[in-house]
Amino acid sequence: MKWQRFLSIPIFAVFLLMGFVYYVTLFVSIEDWVGLRSSDGSFHASVFSFLAFYSLFSFFVCVLTDPGRVPSSYVPDVEDRELSDQEFRRNVKHQRKCEICSTYKPQRCHHCRTCRRCVLRMDHHCQWINNCVGYWNYKAFFILVFFATVASIYSMVIFIACVLQKDWKVWGQSHLKLFYVVCGTPVLGLSMILGSLLCWHIYLMANNMTTIEYYGGVRARWLARKSGQGYRHPFNLGVYRNVTSVLGPNMLKWFLPAAVGHLKDGSSFRIAHDTRQIT
Ligand SMILES: [Zn+2]
Ligand SMILES: [Zn+2]
Repeated sequence: MKWQRFLSIPIFAVFLLMGFVYYVTLFVSIEDWVGLRSSDGSFHASVFSFLAFYSLFSFFVCVLTDPGRVPSSYVPDVEDRELSDQEFRRNVKHQRKCEICSTYKPQRCHHCRTCRRCVLRMDHHCQWINNCVGYWNYKAFFILVFFATVASIYSMVIFIACVLQKDWKVWGQSHLKLFYVVCGTPVLGLSMILGSLLCWHIYLMANNMTTIEYYGGVRARWLARKSGQGYRHPFNLGVYRNVTSVLGPNMLKWFLPAAVGHLKDGSSFRIAHDTRQIT
């Protein structure tokens, strides 16, 4: 069932792009720059292959891991939020109920229209992995973006080194130039897109925020600024705690996409003491 997720055009496009960048890096850039069989060439080919295959492994983990399903027995615990007003409690219960699934939604859980179900700590639905990015696969998604970014920047640097050392007076035929433009454009584009995505998710992780919560909190931030107050995301517990809540407390396991033993059931999250807002 899970393997059926691979039967999608965007995933096929990802495999094609990965294969293309791998081919360009090894058989165009490294080969033309220092030669694949030289010691430098073998070193760069090995480093890039490791980065590429680790990205591929993380990609498989992202696609195959269930992002998080709400337990059928789940009922929201409004008592723990120290709410005294009955009406407010009813409102909270109402807001946390999914009208489509007819079940209660835990904090940070959202309904995904594409997956047609509620997803725990939903970040966003990603068509490139044909899956939601949620509580159980966010770590794998972050590691995928991290390694894919490092691999693309590595590939871009090798490509630029190759272009700079080439004697274009000898190799200056227009069809060869066109070949290098066709090879280089996806590598440069990918580095910029993945680099931006990585910066975005570093920001989100450092603030213990999901993409949905960021956009949901825009109005709250604006209102706070307007009234001269500071706004703090309710789940923001400080950078170190925020990062370890995703990557885990053991730094040796930070870059293992399937090491998620530190995660609990995904239905409740610690809230910073100075605020009770939910975004
Ligand atoms: Zn739902
Ligand atoms: Zn989804």
